[in-house]
Amino acid sequence: MYDVIVVGSGFSAIAVTCNLIEQLPASAKIAVIGDDPGFGRGTAYRTELYLHRLNVPAGRMSLLPHHPDDFVDWLKSRGRRLQAGDFASRSDYGLYVRDTLARLLRKRDGRCRVDLIKAKAAGCVDRYSSTLAFHLGNGDEITGKNVVLCLGVGNATLPVDLEGVPASARSRIIENPWRLSWLRRVAPSDAVCILGSGLTMIDQVLALRAHGHSGRIDVLSRRGLAPLGHASKPQVPLPIDVQMLPDTISGILKILRAKSRAAADWRGVMDGLRPATQALWQRLSSEERARFLRHALPWWNIHRHRVAPDVFDRFEKLVTEGTVRFHAGFLKSLGAEEGRLAASYRVRATRTIAEISADWLVNCTGMERAGISHSPLLKEMSRFHLIAPDPLGLGIEVNAASEVIAPSRISPARLFAVGALTAGQFWEITAVPDIRVQAKAVVEEIAANG
Ligand SMILES: Cc1cc2nc3c(=O)[nH]c(=O)nc-3n(C[C@H](O)[C@H](O)[C@H](O)COP(=O)(O)OP(=O)(O)OC[C@H]3O[C@@H](n4cnc5c(N)ncnc54)[C@H](O)[C@@H]3O)c2cc1C
Repeated sequence: MYDVIVVGSGFSAIAVTCNLIEQLPASAKIAVIGDDPGFGRGTAYRTELYLHRLNVPAGRMSLLPHHPDDFVDWLKSRGRRLQAGDFASRSDYGLYVRDTLARLLRKRDGRCRVDLIKAKAAGCVDRYSSTLAFHLGNGDEITGKNVVLCLGVGNATLPVDLEGVPASARSRIIENPWRLSWLRRVAPSDAVCILGSGLTMIDQVLALRAHGHSGRIDVLSRRGLAPLGHASKPQVPLPIDVQMLPDTISGILKILRAKSRAAADWRGVMDGLRPATQALWQRLSSEERARFLRHALPWWNIHRHRVAPDVFDRFEKLVTEGTVRFHAGFLKSLGAEEGRLAASYRVRATRTIAEISADWLVNCTGMERAGISHSPLLKEMSRFHLIAPDPLGLGIEVNAASEVIAPSRISPARLFAVGALTAGQFWEITAVPDIRVQAKAVVEEIAANG
């Protein structure tokens, strides 16, 4: 019987675990269940490529919000010549996350017990009406009084079926680009078609070029918008009073546009909004939230989730040279012609059907938007009414303390969620600066109630 079971092994799980170690008494028992081979790195920080950089400056990436310089100090201790405003590599960040946990685990005196269990949590049930029990992929079962779900989000599936693609060509459709081994199979002159134009696309383009690829890259997305870059010099955030903003998305955007036009750099407006975003989201009605997702999401993403300035410059150069080309449209079907893959799409705002022919097709449509369909565990928990999906498909329903709301659950065991699964309540809860605050608050809640 564990006092706390943490499910997951990415950043969120490790942030929760580190806070638990700091806050729970020596008598407490914690289990962390994760199926990630690189415990603590998750999808984001598993990459080994130096050019895969953080998109948040190092000074805002400490795992522990109460030690804001922790990551910058760690970089210095490793001899990295980076300052708080610089963008470190994601592989370094993965090492830092694992080092931070290891550092806390090394302290034996007065520390609670932590069992790191490498397994998949396959199912969950109410046990004896008082605890939650997880069935693990290795056949074990463990029970706990408090549970924190830190499952992240799965990869988005391809938006069309592959019936028209002969089996021989399917191995050149890369459904999960995070398994970077596919890059070794690409010849320098191969043509590559990338679906999706977000941060994952930029990562993959730069990784291709780093592997010696020099061929054409066609990028297809609904609007053909790519992420923008951070300013080369840090901007002073322009504070925004959320109470003064209207309650409609159109009204809010009007004010933000006006402020951006008046500002020396629009990034100052976005950065000023950052600390107020969750409060603003919580004020919106569900109709306005749905409207935001329908109309404003692509623009929000490119302005809010920006890339390091030199990464942006490197990418822009490829676009200017014409070796990376953008297409705005809706993918209709995938097929194969004369040994090549053919992506057929409707050109945005027209009825014209166009085609991209390529040797490789890479799914960079991003992460699943925190639904529950990617996770057999979440689907089963929903079937047993242990969790309820968010009405807009943004993860699961939680309250403002990140505790899962599931009206028909009988067990008094407390169930929390941390990270993107809670996007319905908080919206911006996918990046470290937000997750670390949430992880600490959840642990404080658990510690206060024993
Ligand atoms: C490519 C990329 C770059 C990013 N860059 C940045 C950045 O620079 N700065 C920033 O702040 N944020 C960045 N992010 C956002 C990033 O999502 C968060 O920083 C953070 O890594 C999220 O961690 P997580 O633990 O919530 O999710 P994940 O990292 O997805 O981890 C979830 C973990 O749960 C495990 N799991 C899932 N289901 C089960 C199960 N049933 N049983 C056991 N284990 C399970 C998975 O294997 C996985 O290890 C980036 C994201 C990506 C994808």
